[in-house]
Amino acid sequence: VLVIRNIGELILAPDGTGPVVNTSELTRIRNAFVSIDGDRIVAFGLDEECIVLDWFTVIDAEGGVVTPGLIDCHTHTVFAGSREDEFVKRIRGMSYAQIAEEGGGIKTTVHDVRAAGVDELVALALPRLGRMLAGGVTTIEIKSGYGLSAADEIKMLEAAVRLGDLQPIEIVTTYLGAHTIPADFAGRRRDYIDLVISDALMGHIAREGLASRCDVFCEKTAFTFDESREILLAAKAFGLAATLHADQITQIGASRLAAEVGAVSADHLETIDAGGIEAMKEAGVIGVLLPGCSFFLGVEQAPARTMIEAGLPVALATDYNPGSSMVESLPLVMSIACTQMHMTPTEALIAVTTNAAAALNLGDRVGGIREGAQADLLILDVPNVDRWLYHVGCNCVKTVIKKGRVVSES
Ligand SMILES: [Zn+2]
Repeated sequence: VLVIRNIGELILAPDGTGPVVNTSELTRIRNAFVSIDGDRIVAFGLDEECIVLDWFTVIDAEGGVVTPGLIDCHTHTVFAGSREDEFVKRIRGMSYAQIAEEGGGIKTTVHDVRAAGVDELVALALPRLGRMLAGGVTTIEIKSGYGLSAADEIKMLEAAVRLGDLQPIEIVTTYLGAHTIPADFAGRRRDYIDLVISDALMGHIAREGLASRCDVFCEKTAFTFDESREILLAAKAFGLAATLHADQITQIGASRLAAEVGAVSADHLETIDAGGIEAMKEAGVIGVLLPGCSFFLGVEQAPARTMIEAGLPVALATDYNPGSSMVESLPLVMSIACTQMHMTPTEALIAVTTNAAAALNLGDRVGGIREGAQADLLILDVPNVDRWLYHVGCNCVKTVIKKGRVVSES
């Protein structure tokens, strides 16, 4: 049994395991303890009521906050190559779309990923995951989408699955064959979509457990509303959960499509409108917002406040990728959500715990401190959550516990 004592502020999960509308009113216990047996939380409460037997291991939180481990529910962490040249071009005034027209953008990363083997993709991702773990991330979603051929999409997912065995962060994988039409299928959109939804590719991925979810980039420059619907319905028929890159640059109804197909989440939502918010709320689709991406590109943020006030549960993620969000730090993204989207620190914490867990269909196991939940916990060296996100860009995570084991200490 592992006991954490002398906790300044213990943040409890909202009632239930589903997504919740973000609120500043989370239950917290001051001067608290948590007991862990094996990989589960077995008890918590006031420190003065803590029972410690002499064979227990005790960790002193020294008055710091204890929260659930963070969940980054939208990333592209498996990639090769680097695109700092585009970063500088954008600083000088080129747009993301102009760079893509020049043959840069996603195509650059597709070229580099196709040239890399599984071992190389794994080796490149391991230090990224190490830094994310030190920042408090204990569960992460990773997408394919830079292979865009059967062999290369499968290679990316195999790399992501293998990473789950090589380091402590738990990994959920998503098939994103429908990221863009690859150059070798130029003028043959139909052929590429047929490949994406084929039994040999999508069916193989589902049967082999290489992914549990399917994502589509529904956007003018990528896949149309009707193409996205066809791909997501095919995915659901193979037993994959649906999610979308929706309403990022233009409004073509992607958030409404998310509601129509019963997607678990719709992600980005910078251009969402009132009809899209209402449709998602009615259908129980979680809005995953990616403020690090807008920060990185220097563009407008998604209207988080409007969504929360409309009663839509919101999650936050890094969208970590080499083109539009070279941002690994989820706490930094939370601070950006506070200052640029007017979310409170507690609302941001719910967004990366309870709601991010629900977006990955893991809400019954992770994302909250409750009896029986998996013991994924952080000890911070700050006395309250507000202080954590107020100190922008500083790593305040002292200890990371995954499945009841200390896996990172600073
Ligand atoms: Zn993305």
